[in-house]
Amino acid sequence: MKIFKIVNMLLLCFILFTCKSRKEKQEVSSINNFEERRPPREEGRRRPGPPGGGGRVRNYTATDADEAITELHPAFEAFNKEATDIFLSNNGKTVTIETTGLPNHETIYWGKNHELYRDEPSVERTPSIMSSNNNAVTLVVDAVPNLSGKTINTHMGTIGIAVSGASIFNDQEGGGALDRAAASLDWTGGHIGPGVYHYHLEPKAFSYNDDKLVGILRDGVFIYGRKCFETGDYPTNLDASGGHTGVTQYSNGKEEYHYHIINELYSTTGSYIVFAGPYQGY
Ligand SMILES: [Zn+2]
Ligand SMILES: [Zn+2]
Repeated sequence: MKIFKIVNMLLLCFILFTCKSRKEKQEVSSINNFEERRPPREEGRRRPGPPGGGGRVRNYTATDADEAITELHPAFEAFNKEATDIFLSNNGKTVTIETTGLPNHETIYWGKNHELYRDEPSVERTPSIMSSNNNAVTLVVDAVPNLSGKTINTHMGTIGIAVSGASIFNDQEGGGALDRAAASLDWTGGHIGPGVYHYHLEPKAFSYNDDKLVGILRDGVFIYGRKCFETGDYPTNLDASGGHTGVTQYSNGKEEYHYHIINELYSTTGSYIVFAGPYQGY
């Protein structure tokens, strides 16, 4: 009986010990996984988005070097409140933009029977409509763009959020030239697919040959229409990304770096690309 008890105790100790060491191992390996999963800053930002660009995009981690702010930039007031939820995050170092991705303007991509449906006979509509598609995106951007002079190329998928609440994409479609997919673009330079509803071209529904706010890009820099608020005309001092420093209608009289849609017809589309990159604010 005594021997049986001692054996039992030993067995119990052995079980406890192996459980503990296994748990420790698991903890260590989950830390390792986390380190592996979390890429170094530049890598993380270069990482391509999901194919087609849909879904939640959360591949940005604020670092101590990032500047913090206490109030959202006034330009965020212009965003579609029905679609977006915009707030400071990471102790004011970043701004989180959550959006349903559903724009507040007409397009054929709403599908018949929707109040914002627009009949566009010349558009070769892709199979999806808003209601059959998940258009939601979450973007976390620098609260203060990091204008170090370093540039980073855009990637497939969401490169920014427009004031309408929908996504902005670059000048590529599925890795190829956009002009092949141009027939499916609606009157405001947008289409679905695959992935979220998104604009490639000047979004005429809210900016057409003017200085209006178009949206914010992933590097935290705002993008405006083809004209500049400061001069009321097409800017002549843009860098390769369509950016320059000047006063905008939302900068409280202060000069700040911002992008414009470059006033150059894009390929065979007969319109203007929203943003072909590279980012200047990462
Ligand atoms: Zn596209
Ligand atoms: Zn400007």
